[in-house]
Order: sequence, then structure tokens, then C-alpha cells
Amino acid sequence: MDTRAASIVERIPTHEGNVGGLPIRRALPTRARRMIGAWCFLDHIGPSTLNDGQAMRVAPHPHIGLQTFSWMIEGEVLHRDSLGCVQTIRPGQVNLMTAGRGVAHSEEMQSETRHLHMVQLWIALPEVFRTIAPAFVNYPTLPVVRRDGVEITVLAGTHADASAPTQVYSPLVGLDIVATAPAQTALPLEPRYEHGLLVLEGEAEVDGQCAVPGTLLYLGARRDVLPLRMTSAARLLLLGGAPFEEDVLLWWNFVARRPEELRQAAVDWNAGRGPFGRVEGYEGEPLAAPDPAGIRLTR
Ligand code: MN
Repeated sequence: MDTRAASIVERIPTHEGNVGGLPIRRALPTRARRMIGAWCFLDHIGPSTLNDGQAMRVAPHPHIGLQTFSWMIEGEVLHRDSLGCVQTIRPGQVNLMTAGRGVAHSEEMQSETRHLHMVQLWIALPEVFRTIAPAFVNYPTLPVVRRDGVEITVLAGTHADASAPTQVYSPLVGLDIVATAPAQTALPLEPRYEHGLLVLEGEAEVDGQCAVPGTLLYLGARRDVLPLRMTSAARLLLLGGAPFEEDVLLWWNFVARRPEELRQAAVDWNAGRGPFGRVEGYEGEPLAAPDPAGIRLTR
């Protein structure tokens, strides 16, 4: 038996960034790994206690070709979009915006929020769905599976007969895994999926190897079980999906297939035209797309 097949494939350090004034840790995309299934972007924000005056405000900006997926653990953020949706996301909830052919939105931390902990993800839309009409849905509750003292919230896809209501367009899974005391379990996995795991709080032993925040563990495909051990309270995020077969270009807030599409989207947004619409009610100027001419697009 090849024991390496059952060990962690890659440890990928997250990198520090800043979103709307708050420090974040970006786990996807990185040089080492661009996607896990259709999951193509992963920012871990917090857990942080905010100083007076410190806040996250992301001005109106456009998206194409993807879904934005926000999982709120602590704090509240107000979403506004060009469809006219105005929605506060609260702990335990998912906001899922399908950009399709084009949408714009803003995100503002509520002023009473002093503790913020959230995960922001993007999901690339497959070719046949990437120009569908935009949509926004708030999911107030997600199904929870309890196993061996571990609480597993099914954010996307199916786990142990529990299916998330979140509408996605390719086979994938997203799990929030919480232990409030020492616990040990074995997670069943879909072997057709590739998987990755990010520790959000605390630490864990994954396949017998120590895992802490700041490192994405890429687990590869063809696994049907994942041994997990938490020696104290911990929170983990597991992402998985069928390996995405299409070549995807990701630039600024856009996912596309050809550089011309990215350039057109940037030019249209900066000129106030195109498919994006307007975000009403946000106090401040929208974000401008960077000049696409000087950007080298890497696949
Ligand atoms: Mn956005």
C-alpha cells in the first residue's frame, strides 16, 4: 500500500492581504494552487477584535462569471447589490450572490460589530452557467450534522445525508467543522472530489499531522475518509469539489475564459455601462477597476 496516498499532499501558506480596511488571510488563489473544485477564492477574515473606528467597508464593485459565498461566524455585514437586495448577514448564515453575466455589490460591517470572523469565497461558474442572470439569496440556516462531539455545518453540497440549500452549479462541498472540547472523528469524503482544509481557529491533527491557521492543506482527490483530531476547541473549514476541467482566468473581481472578456468588463464598469447596474444607498464612490492593459494574465 502506498501510504503517501493517504497523507497530506501539500501545505500552502496563506498570504496576508487587506479587504475594505481589514487584514485578511488569502488561501486561494495562490501560486501553488488556484482552485479546489470550483472554489477559486478563499479569504479568511478574523477572528479579530476591532479598535474604535476600525471597520470593513467595501465600496460598490462588479463581478462576472462567479458566485460570491460569505459564511459569517461572528459579526454582521450589510450587503447591497444592483438587483436591489439589501441584506444583513448574521452569524450562522450564508449570503450567496450569483454574478452570472454581471452584478455589482457593496459590503459594510455594521457599526455595532466589535468582533468579526468570516470567510469569503468565490465559486467559478462552469461554461454553461457563467452568463446566467444574476441572483442573490440569504440562507438564514444551514443543516448541522453531529458526529463524535464535532458539529458540522453543511455550507454547500451534501455531507452524511444532510444537504445544504445553497444553490451551486457544479459538484462541490463546503463544511464548517467545530469542536468545543477535545474530539476525534473520521469524516467521510466523496472520493471523486479534491479537498482542502483550512484551520480557522485552534489547531487540529489532520491525518496525524498538525494543522494551524495560516496554512491551507491541499488533500488531493481519491480519499474516502479524513481522520481528524482536535486536542482542544477548534474550527475548521473543509472545501471540496470535482476538479474543475475548464481553464479559468481570474482577474480583479472577474472570472472569465478569455482576456478580452476581462478587459471589456473593466472598461464597461469604469464607464458606468455594461451588465452591472447600480448599487443604491451606499455612501461613497464605487471602486474603479484597475487598468487591464498592464496586467499580465496568468492561467
Ligand atoms: Mn465582491
